[in-house]
Amino acid sequence: MAAQLGGQPVFILRPGTERSRGKEAQNSNIMAARAVANAVRTTLGPKGMDKMMVDSMGDIVITNDGAQILREMDIEHPAAKMLVEVAKTQDDEVGDGTTTAAVLAGELLKKAEELLDQEVHPTIIAAGYRMASDKAKKILEGMVREVSEDDEALLLKIAGTAITGKGAENAKDKLANLAVVAVRSVVETTDGKKSVDREDIKLETKTGASVEESELIEGMMVNKSRVHENMPKRIENARILLLNAQVEIHKTEMDAEINITSPDQLQLFLDQEEKMLKDMVDKIVKSGANVLFCQKGIDDIAQHYLAKEGIFGIRRFLKSDFEKMARATGATIVNNINEISESDLGFAGLVEERKMGGEDTTFVTKCKNPKAVSVILRGSTEHVVNNVETAFEDATRVVGVVIEDGKLVAGGGSPEVELALRLKEYAATLKGREQLAVTAFAEALEVIPRTLAENGGLDPIDKLVELRSQHEKGVKTAGLNVITGEVTDMWEEGVVEPLRVKTQALNSATESATMILRIDDVIASSSSGGMGEGMPPGGMPGGMPGGMPDMDFDM
Ligand code: ADP
Ligand code: MG
Repeated sequence: MAAQLGGQPVFILRPGTERSRGKEAQNSNIMAARAVANAVRTTLGPKGMDKMMVDSMGDIVITNDGAQILREMDIEHPAAKMLVEVAKTQDDEVGDGTTTAAVLAGELLKKAEELLDQEVHPTIIAAGYRMASDKAKKILEGMVREVSEDDEALLLKIAGTAITGKGAENAKDKLANLAVVAVRSVVETTDGKKSVDREDIKLETKTGASVEESELIEGMMVNKSRVHENMPKRIENARILLLNAQVEIHKTEMDAEINITSPDQLQLFLDQEEKMLKDMVDKIVKSGANVLFCQKGIDDIAQHYLAKEGIFGIRRFLKSDFEKMARATGATIVNNINEISESDLGFAGLVEERKMGGEDTTFVTKCKNPKAVSVILRGSTEHVVNNVETAFEDATRVVGVVIEDGKLVAGGGSPEVELALRLKEYAATLKGREQLAVTAFAEALEVIPRTLAENGGLDPIDKLVELRSQHEKGVKTAGLNVITGEVTDMWEEGVVEPLRVKTQALNSATESATMILRIDDVIASSSSGGMGEGMPPGGMPGGMPGGMPDMDFDM
């Protein structure tokens, strides 16, 4: 691009820079973002389909999880990437509702397109959307029901709703149950405020058994066996030393040469080394420890002495597990072998090595801190286990959120239908063009029940009409049972979700849609210039400007 100055062109942008602006930029951004939303749309709800993703290396992932699909998709278009961000934020914040957020953002953009065609200015649409979103959150607050941490039946339903449609249905009850028990055992209360740190739940996956055989262990599980076979396999009343130092003689950094001229000298040298190792072991024994978890190596000779003392030892303990182990057993990690004291030791009722899924595994149970739990998820194949893991993680996130907030809403499209109705009433009270945007927002929300119906093989128009009429009659929790095809009270069906999943979905969808709307100029540096770092060759990715994004999903 160039401006004219006294007949001389003045270049502002590097040659090769691609630029699109105004309507053209808007259209292409909206189109790209909508294509992404459409890609995940068919996965929404319990009857949603799965996607099979094959990466450039030929690795296959089969999933129904919106966040995962978007993560795996190799998306280049910058506006489309913003939708991926939506799903990511949603996943980080609440762990569920990712598809909902992306689909809603797509629909908000579709409605915005219609308004743009009617010459409504993008900033007005953005302002209207924001007003609508704020109002919607207030209305949602009024639909909330409280739940207590002790209401196990309800927590199970919440976990169940989160698991639905994640390719792990057949083990839904089992997983929901594990998730609820696991989360409830790690809840902390400080100043009356509950919090759940999912880090306290240690997750392991193992193939080769059915999902039903997944189990929860009150304690820790480590994928390691003891270092020496003469060590005991089982230690009751374990006093555990967590050592972050090697039980080996320091190997010298430089090539040192030791001149040994006689057999005596060699023996002396070996004796000396053995004595040093023996001293190290003595220090461990003196502390009263009968279990040693060492983050570094343990020399063969030291292993022998440890075994002789009846100590259970593991070497090269994973760092991430080490800190969890410290929390679970109440141990202090010791960094220097000369500084071990009895007060550093942790405690567990039982440390035991057992085989699991054909591998030697160490179980540390009846820990000092009962909050430490491990869950072992099983499945026949890698793909099954992956789906089970995603489903379980969603369930624990959602149950955690509910315990922290104590607030629930009904699901199955019921909140969206209610919000749509109420927002339309609200729009009628507004003057000016924002009214149009608020109405558009209200209509966009109906994409959720409509998609649930479509994916369930039901007639979306019939079902939407039925839903609206129920809501007009005051049944605020009327939603779509996609299994039976009936419009019923979702609360009674037990299809319930945390309030936070819905508010976060509203927030992230609104934010991304308005952000995309407000862009009227896309300037992309060419990759030949130093500026375009990170951009693929060929300048603007995704066939910009004005082009269709490189995707095969129908609009
Ligand atoms: P997301 O990634 O948005 O969580 P899901 O595929 O999990 O996508 O679908 C979530 C939607 O499905 C929510 O609107 C939820 O209320 C609805 N849903 C979940 N279980 C049921 C059910 N048994 N009947 C009807 N709707 C359900
Ligand atoms: Mg979900």
